[in-house]
Amino acid sequence: MKLAESIVGWHDEITQIRRDIHQHPELAYEEVRTAGLVAQLLESWGIPTVTGLGVTGVVGTIKGQKDNGRAVGLRADMDALPMQELNSFSHASQHQGKMHACGHDGHTAMLLAAAKHLAHYRDFEGTVYVIFQPAEEGHGGAKAMIDDGLFDRFPMDAVFGMHNWPGIPVGSFGLTAGPIMASSNTFGVHIEGKGAHGAMPNLGADPIIAAVQIVQSLQTIITRNRDPLDPAVLSVTQIHGGSADNVIPTDADIRGTVRTFTNEALDLIESRMKSVCEQTAAALDCKATLDFQRRYPPTINSEAETEFCASVMQHIVGADNVLRDITPSMGAEDFAFMLEHKPGCYVWIGNGSGEHRMDGHGMGPCMLHNGSYDFNDELIPLGGTYWVELARRWLANPTC
Ligand SMILES: [Zn+2]
Ligand SMILES: [Zn+2]
Repeated sequence: MKLAESIVGWHDEITQIRRDIHQHPELAYEEVRTAGLVAQLLESWGIPTVTGLGVTGVVGTIKGQKDNGRAVGLRADMDALPMQELNSFSHASQHQGKMHACGHDGHTAMLLAAAKHLAHYRDFEGTVYVIFQPAEEGHGGAKAMIDDGLFDRFPMDAVFGMHNWPGIPVGSFGLTAGPIMASSNTFGVHIEGKGAHGAMPNLGADPIIAAVQIVQSLQTIITRNRDPLDPAVLSVTQIHGGSADNVIPTDADIRGTVRTFTNEALDLIESRMKSVCEQTAAALDCKATLDFQRRYPPTINSEAETEFCASVMQHIVGADNVLRDITPSMGAEDFAFMLEHKPGCYVWIGNGSGEHRMDGHGMGPCMLHNGSYDFNDELIPLGGTYWVELARRWLANPTC
């Protein structure tokens, strides 16, 4: 493995920073301490820093030896999750009900390591923007930063993201061109009927029957309308209605989630859902209203930048440790918003099997969003090196 010696030398220092952030997890748009720490470190390394972009986002500007007119963005996320940590090691969360269970503490640390190297050596041409975003976990911090002028104030030609991935061995990366994570969407269907005595259904219009038929019919969108080669999930996860055994209620509600890898599938599913809900209800003398909320778009890696990232990885860890065409995840990621504006690539860095966790960790697997997850500090030199190599090579190669 060809690691940046500088970052290997700073491994302990950056590990301390990572664990400090882990101990002080902050939820979406509340990353005041974390953002403050990031800004203070960047400034201390001679990196001019803007704070408060998208509420608590931070951007550092690192200029190379010469301005070649090119600029690249490297992005990490900073927020924690509203869940209880089960680990008992010394750097476990000090805040009840808040935890870095997705490794964003590690993402922040790896990008800090790279920023320190790039500012120290300035061994590149062009400009690197290091982007520390808030609120990735369901609250669209990437979009908030874009809406707040991220790409206008810091014009860049491409943007790159990285997430740790438990289950992929340490020392390996995974990536794929095209969709790597799904769009995330929620929906609610409100069905209005006409209440009646449970023994006299003929006097009402039953919203429960309408709800049940809508749930059944919604699945036909996936099996009969969607292109079978374009994966999608439609899950009804809640049905609510009624309050007594002998009363037909006046209304009922359905809720659920839709995941797709393309906007085409999403457009189709949303429009078919509207027809199915409204017309099924109408056939049963009820009225249905669909409220469809698009949360995160699909995360779609551009071809050229994916190929480029694979070559950077190959240089560092060797071709055998670059898992190309990795199976995408039906999870979602708000880096998708950045990739809607700029070419770029979002990759996974292997976090290992969980063996890195010391005695006294919690229970269960080391998967993301698990109460006994911990970011693997072994990745810091590798992740930092990846960022440095990526930035240097991308800025040097105008054909990409
Ligand atoms: Zn997460
Ligand atoms: Zn995450």
